Amino acid sequence: MSESSVKTIYLKDYQAPAFELEQVKLTFRLFEDGATVLSVLNFKRCSDKNEQALYLHGEDLELRAIKINDQELSEEDYQLDSEGMTIPYVPAEFVLTCETWIKPQDNKRLEGLYKSSSMFCTQCEAEGFRRITFYPDRPDVMTVFQTCIEADKNLYPVLLSNGNPIESGDLSDGRHFVTWEDPFPKPCYLFALVAGDLYCQEGIFETCSGRKVDLRIFVDHKNANKCDYALDSLKRSMKWDEEVYGREYDLDIFMIVAVDDFNMGAMENKGLNIFNSSCVLANTQTATDMAYQRIEAIVAHEYFHNWSGNRVTCRDWFQLSLKEGFTVFRDAEFSADMNSRVVKRIEDVNFLRTAQFAEDAGPMSHPVRPASYMEISNFYTLTVYEKGAELVRMLHTLLGEAQFRAGSDLYFDRHDGQAVTTEDFVIAMSEVSGRDFSQFQNWYDQGGTPEVKVSSSYDADKKQYSLTFTQSCPIGVADSGEKQAFHIPITLGLIGGNGEDLPLSIADGQSSWVFELVDETETVTFEGVDSEPTPSLLRNFSAPVKLSYDYSDEQLLFLMAHDSDGFNRWEAGQTLSLRVLQTLIQQYQNKETLVLPERFIEVFRSIVLNKELDKAIVCKLLMLPAESYLIELSEEADVDAIHHSREFVRAELSTALRGELEALYYANANVNINTSTGLDFVAMSQRALKNMALSLLSASPNKQAVILAKQQFSTATNMTDSHAALSVLVNSGDDSAAHAALSEFYDKWHEDAQVLEQWFSVQSASASLTDLEGLKKLIALPDFELSNPNKVRSVIGAFCQQNLVSFHHESGDAYALLAEYIIKLDDLNPQIASRLMMPLTRWRKFNTNRQALMLAQLKRIHGKDNLSKDVREVVEKSLP
Ligand SMILES: [Zn+2]
Repeated sequence: MSESSVKTIYLKDYQAPAFELEQVKLTFRLFEDGATVLSVLNFKRCSDKNEQALYLHGEDLELRAIKINDQELSEEDYQLDSEGMTIPYVPAEFVLTCETWIKPQDNKRLEGLYKSSSMFCTQCEAEGFRRITFYPDRPDVMTVFQTCIEADKNLYPVLLSNGNPIESGDLSDGRHFVTWEDPFPKPCYLFALVAGDLYCQEGIFETCSGRKVDLRIFVDHKNANKCDYALDSLKRSMKWDEEVYGREYDLDIFMIVAVDDFNMGAMENKGLNIFNSSCVLANTQTATDMAYQRIEAIVAHEYFHNWSGNRVTCRDWFQLSLKEGFTVFRDAEFSADMNSRVVKRIEDVNFLRTAQFAEDAGPMSHPVRPASYMEISNFYTLTVYEKGAELVRMLHTLLGEAQFRAGSDLYFDRHDGQAVTTEDFVIAMSEVSGRDFSQFQNWYDQGGTPEVKVSSSYDADKKQYSLTFTQSCPIGVADSGEKQAFHIPITLGLIGGNGEDLPLSIADGQSSWVFELVDETETVTFEGVDSEPTPSLLRNFSAPVKLSYDYSDEQLLFLMAHDSDGFNRWEAGQTLSLRVLQTLIQQYQNKETLVLPERFIEVFRSIVLNKELDKAIVCKLLMLPAESYLIELSEEADVDAIHHSREFVRAELSTALRGELEALYYANANVNINTSTGLDFVAMSQRALKNMALSLLSASPNKQAVILAKQQFSTATNMTDSHAALSVLVNSGDDSAAHAALSEFYDKWHEDAQVLEQWFSVQSASASLTDLEGLKKLIALPDFELSNPNKVRSVIGAFCQQNLVSFHHESGDAYALLAEYIIKLDDLNPQIASRLMMPLTRWRKFNTNRQALMLAQLKRIHGKDNLSKDVREVVEKSLP
């Protein structure tokens, strides 16, 4: 594809479709060398349009026959180009019948209909359906689908599509068919088809109105013992959505299918969700607690889309956050209710600040609702998902629970069966509350992370305390022109000398108050304040901003001990840790002796000894800011200094607190996973804390932890403990212990794809085991397959994103290796190739030597022949 043929698509150019589709009938005939797709589309010109021409998307299709009503079309009757077909003259109302031939067996892009192992499956979001047949492949064309699937009965006894099955039977030559009908109008990106020889785990859910819904999870027969948790999570999600949002499930069947080769995590196709195996399959032997929590969250997320995404969908792909931001918010609240609200918030904010803030500051920065794109697959980003969810959370904060629920009810009622915009969502929230959210719209239309500076003053005579807030937003490389002020909800409280929240005069005596910053600078004054308080700002991280206030170390320690907001207690600890780390990084750069302040060790000692707090919170408090976050906070990131300083702190803490950490380890050692409570949040927190203690212990030069880890590795009864011990051994620097554990683990688990992914990533993410040669050895193993996205992520992805000190080695060899694989993958699977680009796009963060090396690789990728538009868009935006 030449540069000039890649179009940029703009939101401002949006036009409603000229033709509506009244119904669609599809027949798939699946064979070992390909598939025929017969489509019968009933078109009708929209009453307010007068277009004579019909445009249909279609890519890599072999057209075998096409007719309008009973009239066969010849090649003069239409024009084909690389992206679709134009039929210059069509009547106002007509039936288009079309037959195409496709080759799912050769489809390694994993978009449209493809084969994963022996199973046929589909992925149509965003624009995969056009690889199945000629069709108006845009989300605002919604219609009812009837789908008939024909295939060999022995090889593919299970034939699934959206909706309910209405007919099935045998055909000649050992073949059979099933016909499905989905009564709910949907865009084609929600279409799904599965054909395979699959095990089915069944369950039943009774909805709030008393209807019984059949729940079915389809997996490979070898994974029959890995479905329980997903099924339970699904039932919990269905119940929660009824209770919290009043949303009842609509079809008679809800199905989930696990697929090994999948570009994303999971897909919310109507009634037939398709999941990446790693996001659905679990048992205690093979899945870590983190995997369990991820499964619960993703099952919920995809289920919640049935309303936020499917019943009400997006008008165009610029509105992607309409469904994703809202649904991420919904799944986060669900996880908070199922587990711990504070812990969930800490995890989400940590991720947002490390990864999304970095995206916001880089060349791919874009508003939550982008104004343009070349390839929409590149916009399934943290900004659209995670920041989009923060926008919905801010509306929730501004409105409160009851009004927010009224707004969501209005939104669902008003737009059921429609394809709408982010404005429609905000308007519903505005209408129920009578509030003006026109300034809030800036969050959807302006990229970048706003900064809020806060200063305080206290007048003892007048007993007045004032806070002054100033907002600004940096102009990024992707921005054009000035930015308007944001509408920023800042939840805050004031804490008195005794550690208690003060009643706030401005908020009728309440102790927490949402201050709405709308101007560039604003001051608020609190009356009747007897002595200077400590402010607790941006409680629960009430807005996705970088807030700064000049706290003293004493104030941070005070907040850690007393803040009534759990998130801000953790935040104070993080700020302290960051200060210490940043000082050490400077000492390292100045070649000085590194010194960890005694006081910092005492803070950690008191956390380790704390018996009052939730174990999961203690765990979060003991976690140092990640290397990737320290990079994000640096003007010019010194990866080596960051890595060594952080390891130095871990080693010092380990040595100083050895006794306490060992006691913590043993106090939490005996939690049996094979009981009715073995997988609940308390049990998971206990395992997490024990393994956190083990990990910290292993940072000291004393090798006692290696013995402990070996012991845990050989006696572990679950994957959480086994994986944690393996990770400690791999990172211990004791090569023989590492290799022994790795080979034992491999022998036991190499036939289990999900566990093998963990075996790969624990090595590629480890600075102590993997230099570039180590990485090449992993890639050379027969278990590694470049065509399988999970393997690519667990080996190349984990190395480039987690093993930062090896990836950024000053030779630049790792940059070259990454470029080599991006180039290889570009021909195979452009979506995955494009996502691997991310580390190279961040070149501006590093010193001039590394910048030159990274830019050279970006140019090398840019020079590849036939570069996909996925990779082309990212590379062209990243080059200066
Ligand atoms: Zn989603």
